[in-house]
Amino acid sequence: MSKEIVSLSPDDKKLLIEIAAAMTKFEEEIAQKWDDLFVKSSNGLKESDRAIKNFKEAVWLLLTSLSDGDFDAYFNRIDEKGIDFAKTKEQYENLILSFHLFEEATFPYLQKSFAEKMKIVLTTLDHMYHNVIAILARAYFREMEKEREMFVNILAHDLKNPLTVIIGYSELMIERSRTGTLSKDKEYVYLNMIKDSGVRMRQLIDSTLYYGKLKSGKYSLIISEFDLANIAWEAASYLLTEAEKTPISIHINGHELREEVEGMTPVMIMGDRDLILRGVGNYISNALKYASSMVEVSLQERDEDVLISVKDDGSGIPTDHIDLIFGDYYMVPGGKPGTGLGLPSVRMIADLHNGKAWAESEGEKGSTFYLRLPKRQETGH
Ligand code: ADP
Repeated sequence: MSKEIVSLSPDDKKLLIEIAAAMTKFEEEIAQKWDDLFVKSSNGLKESDRAIKNFKEAVWLLLTSLSDGDFDAYFNRIDEKGIDFAKTKEQYENLILSFHLFEEATFPYLQKSFAEKMKIVLTTLDHMYHNVIAILARAYFREMEKEREMFVNILAHDLKNPLTVIIGYSELMIERSRTGTLSKDKEYVYLNMIKDSGVRMRQLIDSTLYYGKLKSGKYSLIISEFDLANIAWEAASYLLTEAEKTPISIHINGHELREEVEGMTPVMIMGDRDLILRGVGNYISNALKYASSMVEVSLQERDEDVLISVKDDGSGIPTDHIDLIFGDYYMVPGGKPGTGLGLPSVRMIADLHNGKAWAESEGEKGSTFYLRLPKRQETGH
């Protein structure tokens, strides 16, 4: 089935094939001009943006598929691949802009090759570009819809379990109170179950909302200078109550975390404190979930950046999953309950700070999660 939205007449198609063939001759010059325009564009298009790089390659590929005259394959390809280049709103906008820059780069070569019929060439190209933009938009909306559906389903599904516990134990308490069979001990146990479920629901909602906010690209960083060692301490002590229920010890730069860590060397960096606290908190909370006896947080200060690592002695992550766990909703099969949104959030937090988030695992010996953050940030981001 053709994905064409603005229909192309046989004449349009004939001319487009001719244009594609003519432009192939100037491939190198156009590529050079296109690069120059990228550099000059003020919208923050980055050469390093992987999506843009892939997109540029794809445009060339598409050009060749056009010179074969296979329009269906051309549009299908945009429909299928378009979404790979537009995972976020910003990337999508970059994609449209880069397409525009491509048009601009080809313009002088079109003039050279088609001086006598420039008007009809531009009109025909317009038809084609409208198709491309419309197909990209359709692919983007389709993906967003899928994403939203998944988001709602996962949230609803994850909230159901703790809610069932809350309702179940409340009903039990009501029934036992009515019949006078609720002992003080049982009351204490049931209330704790209810509270724990409530806390779990709050965490779920909180992390899901945060993920949504980061994903929407609407998050503007609030940059300040702070002590990263303190952040690690704060994130870990927040989770200490959980850790205390289990025999797991938390160490930060070799200091065992109890109520207070004395003598920790400050590690000053600039960034969004709240986000970094969440990112580090995410790593530590995952580590606590999987560790058997210890979690080690280390801060390594270097010239330009700081490397934070969170190591646990848990079950580790199978090598074929290590690259996938930072993907949206990804959870290793057979793992502990979760949402699969924590690590993608950490990666977005790292990206927002021009840093990097990744993991390493030595089979069954546990895993280490890394977060590299530059010490300085441009303010007014
Ligand atoms: P969640 O923890 O809510 O499932 P995350 O995105 O934080 O979501 O983690 C994704 C998956 O990565 C987890 O489901 C788990 O399979 C794996 N994972 C994360 N941290 C660890 C860890 N410290 N040890 C082993 N597996 C981990």
